[in-house]
Amino acid sequence: MLESQHSLNQEILLFTPAVPQADALRTVLAFPSTYAVGITSLGYQVVWATLARRSDVDVRRLFTDCGDPPHGGHWSRALDLFGVSLSWELDAPVLLDLLEQQNIPLWAVERRDGDPIVFGGGPVLTANPEPLAPFFDVVLLGDGELLLPAFVDVLRECRGASRGEQLRRLAGVPGVYIPSFFSPRYGRDGVLEAIEPTEPGIPASVTRQTWRGNTLSQSTVITPEAAWPSIHMVEVARSCPELCRFCLASYLTLPFRTASLEDGLIPAVETGLAVTRRLGLLGASVTQHPQFSELLGWLDQERFADVRVSVSSVRAATVTPQLSRILASRGCRSLTIAIESGSDRLRTVVNKKLERQEIFTAARLTKEGGLSGLKLYGMVGLPSEEEDDVEATADLLLALKRATPGLRLTLGVSTFVPKAHTPFQWEGLRPEAEKRLQRLARRLKPKGIELRPESFGWSVIQTLLSRGDRRLAPVLMAVRGQQDSLGAWKRAYRAVLAKELEAPPLELPPPPPWLDLVQARWSANQVLPWEHLASGLPNTTLWRHRQDALGAKEAPQTSEQHPTGHVDAAVIHGNVRGMEGDEHQGGGPPGSIEEGAAHHAPLGTAQEEHQHESHHQQGNGQAMAHGQING
Ligand code: SF4
Repeated sequence: MLESQHSLNQEILLFTPAVPQADALRTVLAFPSTYAVGITSLGYQVVWATLARRSDVDVRRLFTDCGDPPHGGHWSRALDLFGVSLSWELDAPVLLDLLEQQNIPLWAVERRDGDPIVFGGGPVLTANPEPLAPFFDVVLLGDGELLLPAFVDVLRECRGASRGEQLRRLAGVPGVYIPSFFSPRYGRDGVLEAIEPTEPGIPASVTRQTWRGNTLSQSTVITPEAAWPSIHMVEVARSCPELCRFCLASYLTLPFRTASLEDGLIPAVETGLAVTRRLGLLGASVTQHPQFSELLGWLDQERFADVRVSVSSVRAATVTPQLSRILASRGCRSLTIAIESGSDRLRTVVNKKLERQEIFTAARLTKEGGLSGLKLYGMVGLPSEEEDDVEATADLLLALKRATPGLRLTLGVSTFVPKAHTPFQWEGLRPEAEKRLQRLARRLKPKGIELRPESFGWSVIQTLLSRGDRRLAPVLMAVRGQQDSLGAWKRAYRAVLAKELEAPPLELPPPPPWLDLVQARWSANQVLPWEHLASGLPNTTLWRHRQDALGAKEAPQTSEQHPTGHVDAAVIHGNVRGMEGDEHQGGGPPGSIEEGAAHHAPLGTAQEEHQHESHHQQGNGQAMAHGQING
């Protein structure tokens, strides 16, 4: 399997790899998906190039279907480092397969001095690494520009030291999280009470690192085998100043940063266009770059007439005649905007500063500029959402269709999934969402509006992983190899709850009840699994944002929605209500290959969050909006 090199041989590199020195750190950098998907992740490309530029690192890439030739001709345990970039929760079990393939013990606690240090990064791990924490020696929290050089330098300095000593040294690097130096404490009722350092000298929390340079990421490799063939990707902006309250892409990567036009974007674009004629402008909020119109004007030159330009989703309020016209003339067929909801009230609740009229104007300008389609992204199951809000979304789409005849409308819609470090991190997934997805389909499909719903069932699994803690690690072990089946996740959870499986080599209580993890609204004083990881705004501020949105106007608890995160006896004892009968839902994770690519993003670049972040909230519906490139 690892011998298939044909894909890699079509690559054009935009950097010069160093020749590894004799004592270089032998490193495998893995991506938990195929080559086509992995190489389309700007974050993965950048991390690989950062390591490959160093002569003191000998890095080989590994995908699920191919890889670079192994060190010394064979994949062996003689590795020093094994890294993985994870940007999609549902890829987590694949990490375990990749470790096994390399003969690396899966549980960090079982690794010895001769085993490689297993490290990871990317938005999933930066947001909430805890379900995977027992498998990692090191997690890098934040922007790779800062973290990777510091991480490798310290490893080089302490090479030859015992594993424990190496990890202690790494724990002193800002943003480097060593899970084994923290221990969760649970109460008798199974509620998480604290996550505390296990050794003296280990700080009580680890802070995400933020790159503040005026250049951002750009492609380091171009290949026709990428999910977006031969595309040159340039990161225009990182994070988003809009602070929609569900949005990981915004909150996890604050502050909003933009690349300099003259010193960053233009040279980056020129570099790529010397070897390809396809350009992708990426970021959570590209059109909010203060000089985005200048960039468009520059791209409007005759010499770029044959260049196909794609952009991530744009804020509806920033759609201009110039934007539509230039994108249409550069091979773009449609624009993507995220509206979240057709309900004015609900957009206010989520802090989406978007007027109804602006949506109509965006549609009109999209059509007038010569584009043939408009994709809109929304969500169901948002906190406080009522049936009327869902009707308002359908009404809005139908009104848009009447107002802009001839413009192809597509609604991508997903279920709200709570994300760590956002104001809605305390909210649960709402079971009503499933019926609301169906309701939208019933109203829109007969009217010729294409609906692209994300699978409700997979949103449930995503929630499990986005809110879970270390007690989920045995579930990941158990589902390995069958992770494409919803039923397998549920069976694995049940089996772990019932203690039917081999005990892990570390002390882990059974996972919390399914409903408590997925649907419960957690109280303000509940200890969060990511409490010890500082990423962006403090919880007091996030709670205030949440209260501004919901205050006393919270949606009534459904019968299945537990109010506090504290659990009732039935569930403690393994009642997994809500897990049954779901096996009909969906076959695998949502998304075509293009979506899949959008789901994989950079280690530490903000663009990643948007990429996959669903396109906004990563995983939450927008799962397509921002991350998916318009084309
Ligand atoms: S949902 Fe979109 S507009 Fe809102 S904060 Fe996230 S990236 Fe910005």
